[in-house]
Amino acid sequence: MANLIVTGGAGFIGANFVHYRRKVAPDDQIVVLDLLTYAGNRHNLDGLDDVLLVEGDICDTELVSSLIADHQIDTIVHFAAESHVDRSITGPDAFVTTNVIGTHSLLKAAKKAWLDEGSGKPHRFHHVSTDEVYGSLGPNDPAFSETTPYAPNSPYSASKAGSDHLVRAYHHTYGLETTTSNCSNNYGPFQFPEKLIPLFTLNALSGKPLPIYGDGMNVRDWLHVEDHCRGIEACLRKGQPGEVYNIGGGQELPNLTVIEEICRSVDKAFAADPSLAKRFPDAPAAQGRPSAELKTYVTDRKGHDRRYAIDETKARTELGYAPARDFPQGFAETLAWFLARENWWQPLLERASITR
Ligand code: NAD
Repeated sequence: MANLIVTGGAGFIGANFVHYRRKVAPDDQIVVLDLLTYAGNRHNLDGLDDVLLVEGDICDTELVSSLIADHQIDTIVHFAAESHVDRSITGPDAFVTTNVIGTHSLLKAAKKAWLDEGSGKPHRFHHVSTDEVYGSLGPNDPAFSETTPYAPNSPYSASKAGSDHLVRAYHHTYGLETTTSNCSNNYGPFQFPEKLIPLFTLNALSGKPLPIYGDGMNVRDWLHVEDHCRGIEACLRKGQPGEVYNIGGGQELPNLTVIEEICRSVDKAFAADPSLAKRFPDAPAAQGRPSAELKTYVTDRKGHDRRYAIDETKARTELGYAPARDFPQGFAETLAWFLARENWWQPLLERASITR
């Protein structure tokens, strides 16, 4: 049994992790610390009445210290971040504040409680980061491994790189028991509707254009969020202090392939369930036309990285991690979730920032 703070636990991946952890470790005490920014949503934790949601800022070191003391916290799983690359291009300040200073605030509070004042009992600070810190790959470059040099290209990835280095330093200098995971692009339930997969899915349902950056041939590795949660759980259980693990979905795909799969799946869903045409009458699929007719090419994102790919040999061999789904299966489950949860996503559409 553990006492956890999950930062950013009302966001997309954090909330999925809290639901997952409740299933695999039902006796844990879980405190979610979340500022409830545009991306946070208390409804993501509906049904988890015994999870304490504290609305607060990770930059507030005193608040973090008091939560660690009051709840005898021994584990911090750190998701809270500004996470949307497009927003980091138009407004980088919040990214530096939350991702760099916020992570440092948590590290300071953890060090004080667990090392300076604590009894040195086992503890864990798990930091959730991104493959984007490694920069962009050419078509024939080997996939990112844990030893690939950092080369972040966006304000988002630079701020995450800064946070990764601080976590590393707190282990190396002070002996804080840290682990870091760098994962690829997640998708699944509770993803905020400005990210690629929910954006394209919901636009296909409402007959809006599917705005494809550049030539659509930027490549990403796609990871179902539940597989990611299993990877984080494996880091917590088997990861060694000070170590970094890359977590991928084994699904390296150009954006265009992803978009075509989304269109195909939406068309298939409408063909199988005639009630969808009544619920979403503006979808091309409601009139028997292909969703792919909505594809629209738009000006490329500034500094858009061309390719990310994950070499997950270390997580596979040392943690026993392997993703359970391929993209078509993971997306079919995700589409079913979005079709069943219109009451969740409909109110969020106003808050989504679509800059493309
Ligand atoms: P998200 O934007 O959906 O959620 C972020 C959460 O953090 C929100 O609930 C928000 O309210 C909260 N938050 C923001 N600033 C805060 C602050 N100052 N104090 C407390 N809470 C704050 O993000 P996500 O997609 O769930 O990503 C979670 C983590 O995973 C991030 O660290 C991100 O960098 C990393 N990551 C995400 C992806 C992905 O594909 N989504 C890929 C790789 C890594």
